[in-house]
Amino acid sequence: MMAEKEDLNLLSEVDKIFKKRRNFIIRLPNSGEPVVTCLSGGLDSVANIVILLEELKVQVYPFFISRGQTNYKWEKKAVDFYDKLFSEKYPKLYRPCLEIELSVPGKAYKKELIATKCLDDYPLVRKRASYPARNPIIFLTGMEYAYSLQAKMIHPKTIFASTHTEDGAYHSALTSLRCQNLLMCQITGDWFWQFTSIPLEKEFGNYYSKARMLQFAHGCGIPLEQTRSCTHGGELQCGLCTMACMDRRLSFKKAGIEDKTKYANPFPKTGKWKLTK
Ligand SMILES: [Zn+2]
Repeated sequence: MMAEKEDLNLLSEVDKIFKKRRNFIIRLPNSGEPVVTCLSGGLDSVANIVILLEELKVQVYPFFISRGQTNYKWEKKAVDFYDKLFSEKYPKLYRPCLEIELSVPGKAYKKELIATKCLDDYPLVRKRASYPARNPIIFLTGMEYAYSLQAKMIHPKTIFASTHTEDGAYHSALTSLRCQNLLMCQITGDWFWQFTSIPLEKEFGNYYSKARMLQFAHGCGIPLEQTRSCTHGGELQCGLCTMACMDRRLSFKKAGIEDKTKYANPFPKTGKWKLTK
């Protein structure tokens, strides 16, 4: 079983297919070009949109998935906050966020899926598999949204994820994004679809972490404390859940940015918090 997040042989084989089919692997969209990306209300998706608007100066068509999440109300509040902020700050480039209803993972098997993720037969592989199809389903939906815009004479051909070097799941790796890109081209019969994540894209010479994304957005004067990370249902973010709140708190620390988020709990003493699944 493969424990590495990236599969460099596979990535290289898929890259060869793109080179053969369209003479390039991936290229940056020109400024003003329409692109589609996800706005989840979390730090990564917000920082990614700031990079798209400030660095690439592309027209951003964001989408938000109402997927049956327990913290829906608070994610939605964060999405509405940034939707308004970006619309006011970048009126020429930012388009209103489209909310799309889609249960992912499927409710009918979510309990078993979580139990499978926690099986201890191949712990690292299970952790990397995470909810294996979650992000692919979200971004295929994003591509289908982009495709649907053609009826309005809008032609976004690039979809951006906001995954970075610290995302451990297979579905967030550059290898996976490239495989998903291949699928997007095959199912539309159009080899000009692009799907990547700026922090991970080797063709752009990038390989950077969440902290650097936060530094960029912070440097552009975007407040980050209104983002929502905590997966629990309470209004205040708990401040303790490992994969969301602790990851958030540590990323602010690493980035050297003051964390103005109001949490339900103080920063835990080292060693007091342990990895939760
Ligand atoms: Zn939390």
